[in-house]
Amino acid sequence: MSEKFDVIVVGGGLVGAALALALDRQGRSVALVESRPEALGALEQGWDARIYAVSPGNRAFLQQLGAWPDASRLGVIRQMDVRGDQGGRIAFAAADAGAEALAWIAENRWLLAALWRTLQQDSNVTLLAGVAPQQLQHSAGEASLTLADGRVLRARLLVGADGANSWVRAQSAIASSIKPYGHSGVVANFACEKPHGDIARQWFLGDGILAWLPLPGNRISMVWSTSQPEPLLALDHDALAQIVASTGDYALGGLQVLSPAVAFPLRLITPDSVIAERVALVGDAAHTVHPLAGQGVNLGFQDAAGLAAAMAGVQDCGEWLTLRRYERTRKASVRTMQLGCDALFQLFHAKQTPGVAWLRNTGLNLTNHLPLLKKQLARHALGF
Ligand SMILES: Cc1cc2nc3c(=O)[nH]c(=O)nc-3n(C[C@H](O)[C@H](O)[C@H](O)COP(=O)(O)OP(=O)(O)OC[C@H]3O[C@@H](n4cnc5c(N)ncnc54)[C@H](O)[C@@H]3O)c2cc1C
Repeated sequence: MSEKFDVIVVGGGLVGAALALALDRQGRSVALVESRPEALGALEQGWDARIYAVSPGNRAFLQQLGAWPDASRLGVIRQMDVRGDQGGRIAFAAADAGAEALAWIAENRWLLAALWRTLQQDSNVTLLAGVAPQQLQHSAGEASLTLADGRVLRARLLVGADGANSWVRAQSAIASSIKPYGHSGVVANFACEKPHGDIARQWFLGDGILAWLPLPGNRISMVWSTSQPEPLLALDHDALAQIVASTGDYALGGLQVLSPAVAFPLRLITPDSVIAERVALVGDAAHTVHPLAGQGVNLGFQDAAGLAAAMAGVQDCGEWLTLRRYERTRKASVRTMQLGCDALFQLFHAKQTPGVAWLRNTGLNLTNHLPLLKKQLARHALGF
């Protein structure tokens, strides 16, 4: 006995949950399969060190879905202040592009709780949490998924939203190039002595990139991209707060740890394709980028919106032409973001090449004095 849907989404992280809701809003029948057990209450406890700078365009997408969380735990970036390793500096503001904010800062769990609450309370999506998929078969006509508990689901389209180590990608025999950066992202949250002024601060260091993002009140979230995460993870709370404050020149006075540091490996993942017969990939399953621009999840939300848009009004939503349209519309933005973040990373890690340190710092300073280019940067951060 099998259950039939228009679409099966595998992976109920931010991107899969948003896509399932967007397709539900189109009147599609959707099954969302998430291997972790659903625990909505737990999602709202404590501060989550994994945070995102959500662009205004993606905020509007989540608002339309009725899944934008309440403001009590949201930060806002009105200004960026980026420092090079030899005195280079660029600062630009939302006001440069005539906007209210460059991005909203939200914790992974806080966003996820809002999405899952809407899925549970205001959608017809069939939620299958706490069960792993076991076998995927796909042909020109349909995709079929066998779950570990023996249930079989069939659909016109199966979407892999199951993260960077995507099981769906592997089962669909989609090869990918994986380039480790040799760096990890170390994340933690802090209380700060001085107000952050809604400014996101970033330092390009000799061997790493340190970012402080404004949370509500006198709190910040740190993402430190470094080739040596272990010494940071081994520090006690006071020592960690001290080194993070001093590396940021005490710009916000003293710091206190709110959530302990965790690290995640940074890799550039580029699959050969994001579609196969009756299969599409979205989010980290389809691409990863260096988090120096905080754009990982923004690309993923745009995949969800793009796939839903490609399917709008199409009767057979998994037909090849529709999948090709999705692939084409997303290719340029994903490639631009991957190449842009990669180039910036390489530029700030080319320690041995003479002149590169001068070039990158002079570049920052020059750009800082060119209002039109700054406006362009602000517009890019806004997702225009
Ligand atoms: C510790 C950590 C910190 C991070 N911090 C930042 C940061 O500060 N800034 C930033 O921009 N990015 C950060 N990232 C990257 C960011 O989390 C991803 O870009 C983003 O989560 C991608 O969303 P996604 O929905 O595509 O994938 P994920 O969030 O990975 O979601 C995938 C979902 O699929 C489920 N799943 C996996 N396999 C299966 C399966 N076989 N069957 C069913 N379900 C499955 C998982 O349980 C999960 O819920 C961080 C990543 C980690 C691991």
